Amino acid sequence: MDIKPAYGLFVNGEWVDGEVRNKTVNPATEEVLAEVTWATESEVDTAVRAARAAYENVWSRMPGRERAKYLFRIARIIQERARELAVLESLDNGKPIRESRDVDVPLVAAHFFYYAGWADKLGYAGFGPDPRPIGVAGQVIPWNFPLLMLAWKIAPALACGNTVVLKPAETTPLTALVFAEICQEADLPPGVVNIVTGAGETGHALVSHPDVNKVAFTGSTEVGRAIAKSVAGTRKKVTLELGGKAANIVFDDAPIDQAVEGIVNGIFFNQGHVCCAGSRLLVQESVYDEVLAGLKRRMALLRVGDPLDKNTDIGAINSAAQLERIRTLSDIGAEEGAARWSPPCELPDRGFWFAPTIFTGVTQAHRIAREEIFGPVLSVLTFRTPAEAVEKANNTPYGLSAGVWTDKGSRILWTADRLRAGVVWANTFNKFDPASPFGGYKESGYGREGGRHGLEAYLDV
Ligand code: NDP
Repeated sequence: MDIKPAYGLFVNGEWVDGEVRNKTVNPATEEVLAEVTWATESEVDTAVRAARAAYENVWSRMPGRERAKYLFRIARIIQERARELAVLESLDNGKPIRESRDVDVPLVAAHFFYYAGWADKLGYAGFGPDPRPIGVAGQVIPWNFPLLMLAWKIAPALACGNTVVLKPAETTPLTALVFAEICQEADLPPGVVNIVTGAGETGHALVSHPDVNKVAFTGSTEVGRAIAKSVAGTRKKVTLELGGKAANIVFDDAPIDQAVEGIVNGIFFNQGHVCCAGSRLLVQESVYDEVLAGLKRRMALLRVGDPLDKNTDIGAINSAAQLERIRTLSDIGAEEGAARWSPPCELPDRGFWFAPTIFTGVTQAHRIAREEIFGPVLSVLTFRTPAEAVEKANNTPYGLSAGVWTDKGSRILWTADRLRAGVVWANTFNKFDPASPFGGYKESGYGREGGRHGLEAYLDV
């Protein structure tokens, strides 16, 4: 893998030097990986113009079957360069290589393959016989799944005939920049995909640009709210995928060992930097002791450390700022009276690290039961009846995902029917597939990504 010392912006199929530079670091070592550009308002404007020209002259006119060829080509190049992308993602983000290699990158390729398949079949997707694209999409993505969020945004946009200006997160721009190289390698017409790196101001310039027709954002509820305000009153189409505080509900008839694996996967996967993480464990009182003992035993086996070691389970926290947020909320949890527990584990001296942590004795009033911590921290609550489980699970401003663990199919369906969450996993957690839609209720945002439903956001319907 070859990281360049400095990267420009990818605009109209070419690399252009920007005015402002910043650094991206490896969160596991704090070493600088590369210099990247922070795009200014006028640089964003140039990118949007390039996307507009490509939309009008080339991409929206191209038959779907031709667009599909480019998407298939991109998907295959991603597969060919999978190792390189996985290592780069782990270096820039801090996530374990096992996850970037086995989850992120294969799903990225799968998304491009999946939406390549739709490009010439849009007339059969249920949005009328000849659905039209929207125009230029301004897309802003977070740092927790950098390349995967790029795929979720770019693949459906391109399949439907839109062109794209995408801003990756400030702390994780590198795989998006390599993706730009992949677009060049695939001979994608110039301007169809433009990548502008930068911070919040760059994102703001992009989503508020008057010539952007569609805004797609994944990130915090706070920024999502600001974006919703800034586009209100315009004709822009918007999808927001925001925070979550998912309940993972374990009933007393659940297979306990499997449930413990699911709880661990639900909250410690990707250091808990997952919007749909199972961060509130709801355990039926009669099996509480058994579940908790199993969970502690399992947590003691988790390996925290070097993200590039394939035995690592929990990597580095993505940034110093995020580590600070996790520490602050965890300290508040302890101050409010919940009992804190972490297995003994040695953390590396340099870099940003947080030991896997659980809080017991948590009540619904505690901030750690209500706010998104976005780290490897689990709040454990209990319930007695199924109705109480549902009531507690829904007692949140969010509504992105939930999990149900039980032996009975009827109980799965009964519970899932009553949960106000976009995705409900049954006897599993954090499973993703390009064919299934994903999105939230309430403060978790609106619109769906993935599957046939995900096409709607990029079609003029
Ligand atoms: P943000 O929502 O700030 O970042 C998401 C993306 O939006 C980034 O690319 C960011 O740029 C960009 N952005 C920031 N401000 C604006 C703006 N005004 N207009 C347009 N784009 C903007 O998340 P943070 O990284 O600050 O994380 C804060 C908290 O948000 C986390 O602790 C976590 O709780 C939650 N979060 C939730 C995610 C989810 O998927 N649900 C994902 C990420 C965070 P830049 O990176 O430069 O700031």
